[in-house]
Amino acid sequence: MARYTDPVCKLCRREGEKLFLKGERCYSPKCAIERRNYPPGQHGRASQWRRSRESDFGKQLRAKQKARRVYGILEKQFRRYYKQALKARGLTGLAILQTLESRLDNVVYRMGYASSRSQARQMVSHGHFMVNGHRAKTPSMQIKPGDQIQIREGSKKKTYFKELPDLAGERNAPEWIERDVKALTGTISRLPERAEIDANIDEQLIVEYYSR
Ligand code: SF4
Repeated sequence: MARYTDPVCKLCRREGEKLFLKGERCYSPKCAIERRNYPPGQHGRASQWRRSRESDFGKQLRAKQKARRVYGILEKQFRRYYKQALKARGLTGLAILQTLESRLDNVVYRMGYASSRSQARQMVSHGHFMVNGHRAKTPSMQIKPGDQIQIREGSKKKTYFKELPDLAGERNAPEWIERDVKALTGTISRLPERAEIDANIDEQLIVEYYSR
């Protein structure tokens, strides 16, 4: 499976804001945005002024790239989500965000069982989770309201999962997520409303980008 392998903090610096891709480090003074909030590269500082003079196309492109980076999605898959959203009822932009939020890796992250989406993706790929009683190793799997997510019995013996109930208890979960941190289980009760999706993304710009 193709994936992004360069330093992820560069992605935040390119977008000029924290995308929270690295878990606990994002909340510490070590965060690259705290220390070097200008675009990466040789001309990074010099090109800072360009951010405020972006064309409409530039803004649409940045909105799409930011969403891809926040959720860790490659271009081909992201375009597929847009096409699916076109067929959905209601607002296309909201449908894209709801599809992203319903991915198994994102739901695991939202439940507080991982400190970042990339950690959640890795845990899912390593087969630590079950969905409706079956082992699920596909991070992009779409979770529907009522689907039951739990940690595999064999994985509970690992140190990380032994400590996870305490860790997860300290992390807040949104209202559309139902979880039992002691049992390390959970489900989604419904799809999130727009106001419940905290990513700073302008989904309308994404729709405009793909409908050019
Ligand atoms: Fe982004 Fe987190 Fe790196 Fe800060 S520490 S630049 S928020 S990934």
